[in-house]
Amino acid sequence: MARYETVIGLEVHAQLRTASKIFCSCSTAFGDEPNANVCEVCSGMPGVLPVLNARVVEYAAKMGLAVDCRVNLTSVFARKNYFYPDLPKGYQISQFEQPLCEHGHVDIEVDGRVKRVGITRIHMEEDAGKSIHSSAENASFVDLNRTGVPLIEIVSEPDMRGPEEAVAYLKSLRNILVYLGICDGNMEEGSFRCDANVSLRPFGQEEYGIRAELKNMNSFRHVQKAIEYEVARQTALLEDGESVIQETRLYDASKGTTHSMRGKEEAHDYRYFPDPDLVPVVIAADRLEQWRSELPELPKAKMARFMEGYGLGEADAARLTAERPVADYFEAAVAAWNEPKKLSNWMMGEFLREMNQSGKGATDCRMAPESFARLVRLVEEGTISAKNGKDLFQEMFLNGGDPEELVKAKGLTQISDTTALETVVDGVIAANPKEAEAYRGGKTKLVAFFVGQVMRRTKGQANPAVVNELLAKKLSS
Ligand code: ADP
Ligand code: MG
Ligand code: ZN
Repeated sequence: MARYETVIGLEVHAQLRTASKIFCSCSTAFGDEPNANVCEVCSGMPGVLPVLNARVVEYAAKMGLAVDCRVNLTSVFARKNYFYPDLPKGYQISQFEQPLCEHGHVDIEVDGRVKRVGITRIHMEEDAGKSIHSSAENASFVDLNRTGVPLIEIVSEPDMRGPEEAVAYLKSLRNILVYLGICDGNMEEGSFRCDANVSLRPFGQEEYGIRAELKNMNSFRHVQKAIEYEVARQTALLEDGESVIQETRLYDASKGTTHSMRGKEEAHDYRYFPDPDLVPVVIAADRLEQWRSELPELPKAKMARFMEGYGLGEADAARLTAERPVADYFEAAVAAWNEPKKLSNWMMGEFLREMNQSGKGATDCRMAPESFARLVRLVEEGTISAKNGKDLFQEMFLNGGDPEELVKAKGLTQISDTTALETVVDGVIAANPKEAEAYRGGKTKLVAFFVGQVMRRTKGQANPAVVNELLAKKLSS
């Protein structure tokens, strides 16, 4: 039994999906040529003034509303001063003493238990540029395309007690951001990134222990691994009677370890002060109410509606609403064919399996939701066998296509017509008199042999239920 309790608080940076940067009209497009999207403002030329992108305030406030924060009608931008080659102004415009949102929370579920994680604050800020180090050219380069791209930083309370809770919290935040349509949630491209503060304390102790801040995890798996490693490292230190030091540590994905980047002594004094180039952000109360009314249905509410409206069980409703594209796909299919439970079974089985196996998301699925509904219907109505339906599903998920046309082209139509099948069954029995004799003598297991023969003669198109019924009748007579 572990003697120490893990305490985790997360700082999440989410890139907002605006077309232009936060204080200038440069494009936020990802992957353009280095320094293609740069102007006097975002490259920090003297004598120019920032102009706030109103969309940024709207998106940040909507996130605040979605996680039950108080949204401050007046907030203030501040300068965070530090020197780094990718920060041309020598300061980052952020918010400090008066952030936009405070005192929110999200409810997460781990091992069937619901837990509330507090959100300390959400503030707006600009992103920095990117340094590119080339050993081949023995030089470093700076790309300012990302400089001035709008971010929100979401700071949690130290409420999480293990890596699973941290990951559940992150997934929940990301789902909300994607539901709101304000962030694409792409961890690999850095539009959703997190720093994890991790400390230990003896069970029963109220005071928090000394924390390390972990950086450089760009997937949920990395977050889980980095925290696990860090907990083991700190446990070993404490058990040896040593103490943890407050520092920033970098996660190394290839080794699964963390190593010190900078200690507390080297920690920055950011000398925050209100940015004199920007007036306080003032939001009219009715504007905030309008934004509140524009909020889409969020994961929790959608889950409740899926249970009530479609009669789905809790597990299915939770899974189908966890990601908005999956929920949207399901609802579009239900709109095409009003059999939510049948469609949900295929979503939970085939659809999620295919997503896992192919590593693709619901938006990569090439099969239109209406085609999916028609395919499931072909199976449920007995036109094609379940086996053929599943094969077709996989093909259509990856390549698209029309279910009826594919069934026709591949000759998959199931034969359920009794008269047609009767001829085949009679033929099979006549061709295998010895087996028929043995069956009648009590070896009823031989029915499988006969079904196999019928399937071979019909190229797998015979309806197994009808075949079984016919065989039972004919063989016992
Ligand atoms: P800083 O800005 O220096 O990183 P903050 O006080 O703003 O420090 O805390 C940042 C994050 O660290 C928050 O998410 C908070 O919950 C978390 N945190 C603070 N103290 C601890 C601790 N002892 N253990 C784990 N997390 C902590
Ligand atoms: Mg920090
Ligand atoms: Zn610019």
